[in-house]
Amino acid sequence: MIDRYSRQILFSGIGEEGQRKLGNSCVVIIGCGALGTIIATSLVRAGVGKIRIIDRDFIEYHNLQRQVLFDEDDIRSQLPKAIAAERHLKRVNSSVEIEGIVADVNFTNIEGFLHDADIILDGLDNFETRFLINDVSLKHKIPWVYGAAISSVGMTRSIIPGETPCFRCLLANMPGRGTIPTCDTAGVINAAPFILGSLESVEAMKILVGAEEINRDLIVIDVWEGTFDRFKISAHKDCPACHGKYEFLEGEYGLRATSLCGQDAVQVLNPEAGTISLEELAARLKRVGQVTYNEFMLRFTVDTCEMVVFPDGRAIVKNTDDESLARGLYAKYIGT
Ligand SMILES: [Zn+2]
Repeated sequence: MIDRYSRQILFSGIGEEGQRKLGNSCVVIIGCGALGTIIATSLVRAGVGKIRIIDRDFIEYHNLQRQVLFDEDDIRSQLPKAIAAERHLKRVNSSVEIEGIVADVNFTNIEGFLHDADIILDGLDNFETRFLINDVSLKHKIPWVYGAAISSVGMTRSIIPGETPCFRCLLANMPGRGTIPTCDTAGVINAAPFILGSLESVEAMKILVGAEEINRDLIVIDVWEGTFDRFKISAHKDCPACHGKYEFLEGEYGLRATSLCGQDAVQVLNPEAGTISLEELAARLKRVGQVTYNEFMLRFTVDTCEMVVFPDGRAIVKNTDDESLARGLYAKYIGT
C-alpha cells in the first residue's frame, strides 16, 4: 500500500504521518455532479479511508461533458450517480471503503449521513442544502469545504467551526430565489468544476492531515478570463448559525414539496422566495425550454418536465407525484 502512495508520501506536506491520517479519515461528499466526481476521484486515489457519496439523481447525456466518473454504459444501465460512482471508484482503489447513497439530503436525514464524518465536501448545485450543511457543521464541529462552479466561474472556501467565519456569515441571508443562475440555465464549461473540485479535494487533504495552509479566504477563479482572486471574509455579528440558531437544520427554511392528490402534480412552496420577477425568470428559462408568462404565472416546459411558477415563488410541477423529484427540478430551473 505504501508503494501506491509513494509519490504523495514524498511530498513534504503529507509524509507518512499524513498518509496514515488520510487512511483513518471518513469523508462525505454531498452531490455527485461535476464537482463531486472530481473530488471523489481525487480522494479515492489519494487513499482516504472511507468515502460516502450522496446524490439523488440519475445520469443523463448532458452530464457526460463534465462529470468525469460516468460513461455511456452508466446511462444505458440507468444507474443513479451515487451507485455508478461507487462502482467505478471501487475499481480504482479497492482498499478504500466506498459507499454510494441515493438520497435527497434534507433536514430530516442529513445528521444520519454525517455521524462519522471528519469532513464534508460540497458537490452541490443549490444554496439551500449548503446552509443545511453549514448548520450541521457548526452543531457537530465538522469542517466543510464550500465549492461552486457555473459558466466559467468557480469559488471555494473552507469553513472550520470555531476558527473561521461560517457560510451564513458569507451570505448573511438567502439570496433571492428565481434570480440565481444554475448550470441548467447559464451553462458551464468543464474546466471550471475541474479546477474547483481539485481545489476542494486538496483542501480536504490539508484539513485531514492538520496542515496550517488551510484556505480561509474566498477564492474566485474565472477559467475563461484566466483570473484567480482571493477575498478576505469576516464574521457577521448577527449570523444566526454562529449564535447556535440552526434554522435550516430545524426545518424552518427550505423548499416544501407536497404531492397534489389525484392530480399527478407536486406543489413546491418556497417560504423565503419573496416576490420573484417572472419576466427575469422567463428570460433565463427561454434559453433551455419553452416559456409563456403573464403577470400572474409562468409556464415552463423542458423535456418531460412541465411547471407553473407563481410570483410568490410557489410552483406546481406536473406529470409526477414524486416530491423529491419536484424539489430537484425546482432547484435546477428556478434555483435555490
Ligand atoms: Zn456565521
